[in-house]
Amino acid sequence: MSERKVLCEECRDRVEFNVVEKEIVDTLKGENYTYMGKEAYCSKCGAEVYVDDVIDFNLEKLYDAYRKENDIISLEKVLEISDFYTDEQMTIVKGWRKGIFDRYCEGDVPSKEHSDDLKQIYELLLVEQIRKKFTRRVIKCRK
Ligand SMILES: [Zn+2]
Repeated sequence: MSERKVLCEECRDRVEFNVVEKEIVDTLKGENYTYMGKEAYCSKCGAEVYVDDVIDFNLEKLYDAYRKENDIISLEKVLEISDFYTDEQMTIVKGWRKGIFDRYCEGDVPSKEHSDDLKQIYELLLVEQIRKKFTRRVIKCRK
């Protein structure tokens, strides 16, 4: 049980609540997606209550399911790219609208076209990293 309290519409009061894991089916862009999400229930009357964290958690899971199903690059990979590229650079390199890469880094789901661009960049970064590792190893061997 949580120490925090939220509004229960049934009890018309701020109540403590229990969070349970649940398989949820949600619709996004006209398609159904199933994911392991969470639901919160009033600990007094058992009615479902709305908790910000739970809603955010489910939204993230829904987006994950959507990305997997539609072959869209994962948020983790987008964040890895952001270690190397800024929003400004993506605007210059890819001609994207300003701020759009930042939004992807905050969890917005990229379009298929942008996702493919990002995947390509990710692959190149990966190759670059492997090459660096390899070069370092070669240098070590020569000593
Ligand atoms: Zn209640």
